[in-house]
Order: sequence, then C-alpha cells, then structure tokens
Amino acid sequence: MPSPTFADLGVPQNITAALASRGILEPFEIQSAAIGDVLAGRDVCGRAPTGSGKTLAFGIPLVATGAQGLPYHPRSLILVPTRELADQITAELSTFAGRVRIHAIYGGVGYGGQRAALKRGVDILVACPGRLEDLIQQGSIRLKDVDKVVIDEADRMADMGFLPAVRRILDMTSSGRQTVLFSATLDGDVARIVNEYQNNPVRHEVKPVGNDASKADHVFWVTNRDDRVEVTSQIIANAWPSIVFCRTRHGADRLARQLEQKGIVAAPIHGGRSQSQRTRALEDFMGARVQALIATDVAARGIHVDGVSSVIHFDPPEDHKAYIHRSGRTARAGETGLVVSLLVHDQVKAAKQMQRQIKLDIAPIKVDASNLSGALTDLGLAPAAPFVPPPAARSSKPPSHGGRPGGGRGGRPEGRPGSPKAGKPRTGAGAAGPKPSGTQRSGTPLPAGPRSGTTRSGTPRSAGPRSTSR
Ligand code: ADP
Ligand code: MG
Repeated sequence: MPSPTFADLGVPQNITAALASRGILEPFEIQSAAIGDVLAGRDVCGRAPTGSGKTLAFGIPLVATGAQGLPYHPRSLILVPTRELADQITAELSTFAGRVRIHAIYGGVGYGGQRAALKRGVDILVACPGRLEDLIQQGSIRLKDVDKVVIDEADRMADMGFLPAVRRILDMTSSGRQTVLFSATLDGDVARIVNEYQNNPVRHEVKPVGNDASKADHVFWVTNRDDRVEVTSQIIANAWPSIVFCRTRHGADRLARQLEQKGIVAAPIHGGRSQSQRTRALEDFMGARVQALIATDVAARGIHVDGVSSVIHFDPPEDHKAYIHRSGRTARAGETGLVVSLLVHDQVKAAKQMQRQIKLDIAPIKVDASNLSGALTDLGLAPAAPFVPPPAARSSKPPSHGGRPGGGRGGRPEGRPGSPKAGKPRTGAGAAGPKPSGTQRSGTPLPAGPRSGTTRSGTPRSAGPRSTSR
C-alpha cells in the first residue's frame, strides 16, 4: 500500500500548502497513522519515539477542526511539560495556523502578556500545568468550553510530577471533549490517565527501528576525571553543534566556563537561568553563534532542535530513560548523530547495566586526552584546529559567522570554513538568526572550525542546528 499524502488523510489544502512551503511534503509514520483519527474526533493514544513527528500528528487536526474561542474561553488545549516545548509547539503550529489564534502560557515570565492574549481570545492554548492553574485561579481562564485536549510528552509530565495538576485541569474541561495523548512510554501513571480520561482511544504505536537512539553512533569513553573537559572540548570542536549534559546547574555553569577557556563557545541552559537567558542561549545555538549548549536534564526536555551533530553525556544520565531522552537530541528526524558517554572508572559498571536495559552493547574504551586523534578517526572525525570564535560571537546580536562548517561530522566537502558556499545559513530559524553579511560570504577569512570528516555512512550531515519551529 503506498503511503498516504497529507491530502489523502483529509488535511485541508491551505494547510498542505503551508507545510509544503516548509519542505514538509509527506507525512511521517505516526502522522499517517494518527491524523485521520484525530481529525475524525476520536480519542487517540499515541506512542512514538522522539523526533517521529508527533507535533504535527496532533497539531494539524487541531488547527483544521478546532473551534473559535471567546475571551477567556479557549476551545483547544495542549498540555506540555516545559516552557521551551510550549514555545516550540506554538511556533510550529503558527506556520500553518492562518487565522487560528494560538498562544502559549507558562511560568517564569510576567502575567501581563498572557492575560492580554486570553482577553482577546485564544483558540488553541498551549500550556504548562502550573501557570495554567494560576491563571484559572485568578479568573483569567475558564476551561469549560475546551472540547479538545492534547497531552504531549505525558511520560515527562509524570516524571516531573505534573499528573495531579493534569487531572485537575482535565476535570474542568468539557465532559464531551476529545482527548489525545502522546508519550514515549505508556506505562504506570500514564496508563492510568489513559484509562481514566480517554474514551475508547485508538492506539497508535510507532516502533523505533531497533531502539530510540538507533540512528546515532553511540560510544562510551573512559577517561580520568581531570581529562573530561579536554575530551569534551575536542569532541565539540569536531562535532558541533553539540548538546552536553551535566547533572547540576552549577556543573553546567562551570563546564561552560572551562570550555570557553579551551576556545569552545558554549552557553549553559538550565532552570537557574532566567527565561530570557534560556531563550537567548537557544537562539544563539540555532543561529550557530555558540557551538554547544551545556544543559541540565530539565532544561533540555522537549527542546526540538534538528541538525545537532553530537550529544555528550558529561555526567551520566540518571537512568536509561534519561539516556534515551538526552541522546534523542541528536539523530532526529532520520539524521545520523554521535552520542558520547564520558565515564570515569567507577561509572563503567553502571553504564554497562544501563546498556543492557536499552539493548545497547558497546564496549567502553579508554581514551587518552593528550592523544585523541585515533579515537576521533574511528568515529569518522578528523582532528580539527581549535575553533576561534568570531569577535562578535559573545555579544547578544552578533553577525552570523556565515562560514560555519557543516557540523563537523561529514560536513560536505564544499562546506569548509571560508568557502563561499559555506555561508548558507541552515538555521531554518527565520528571524532568530541574523543573515550572514556580504563580507563574510565573499571570502573574508573565517574562524577555524572543524574540518570535514566523513561519517561512517558517508552521508553528508546537514549544516547547523535547525528548529523547524522558529
Ligand atoms: P516528536 O514530537 O515526535 O519528538 P517533532 O514533532 O518535534 O517530533 O518532529 C521532529 C522534527 O521533524 C521537527 O523538526 C519537525 O518539523 C520535522 N517533521 C515533522 N513531520 C515532518 C514531515 N512529515 N516531513 C518532514 N519533516 C517533518
Ligand atoms: Mg514532541
């Protein structure tokens, strides 16, 4: 059976046209499976790995069928665990929403803008549970007209302790509502929500090929504790854009500083930073003004940036689920990627246990920080000259260093720094990243970046991170 088109699934022409203009031409598997049912008004319970395209699976039908909200009375509600995810979903849906009014509400920012939007009227509200409950208590939102609810990343909501709030919120919505739930796992508390709040849901499951992280190359490197920063800097230099995970906020701040001393442009992103700092870090990352985001787990949840070349577990993840979520920041949407776990000796045993739980079988190897070239070559990465950030790279609105390389891993041959073609921005970020200046395009010497390596598969990596949602 040939796979259906968006039109075959019943997606209206104005939406297919808007998607096509972003290069989204054919539905992904979870979209083919779920869009028809969600459009038809059925409850859907979907399980699919990170990067499989769940946002459009629920977002297209909501935009196509959601009703108009009166002031303070939204009609559709998308519940999400984090503010970053709220922003990303809002931005992604806005690309084809036409006149449908979508607005995100979450904590950590002022109430004024959110109240004003609610007063004007919102059709699709994208909300984190905490702020939503605040606004309900203040009388700025009433949920009784809500007849379509999506619970996105239900497993993360459960992990973050939001399910009691989700229940209270669902209880305030229309009893005849349609309820759609997406999650990477469907057990425990999530299963209870499905049983209690969904009405005879259609289940759609998209199995990852192998496991969630199968399209990435996974390696486990054993090093001395003191060498981890140096090893990390070399991985980033060769395979950026990179997301590096630390256990604590303090650790992330410290590592970002230490990496900067080694010539890596890095931005910490964690819950201890203000919303505007986090937004700026993400924008700088998508605009290729920083090579690495140094993140804690909470901050990285739901960040949807494509084109990330490597994920580095600087500190081990809490458990195998966290490993999959962290690693899922690379190799999204069918791309390849590199995942490096840095281990000190007494962490090797736990790493092997974790591997068994996710059916990975990769022998940890010892690496020597003073001579990493062999290990890098094994990964298809050529040792690179140290990255020298452009002078403006640390300011808030620098010009794009237009010649940034194709992410290091297998960057295309013509993508070498300084070559004219290398200046093509691939942020997909629209307004987020400044356009490269003409001088850079016309061959001004550019900072040394990673040399192009060849991936094992020989497939060129795309240039730079992208978030399709900004
Ligand atoms: P998930 O929520 O399942 O982790 P997303 O919905 O964030 O995944 O989608 C992952 C990426 O794939 C996004 O960048 C999105 O824009 C892109 N994408 C989604 N559907 C399609 C499609 N049908 N064709 C091309 N790209 C798509
Ligand atoms: Mg998602």
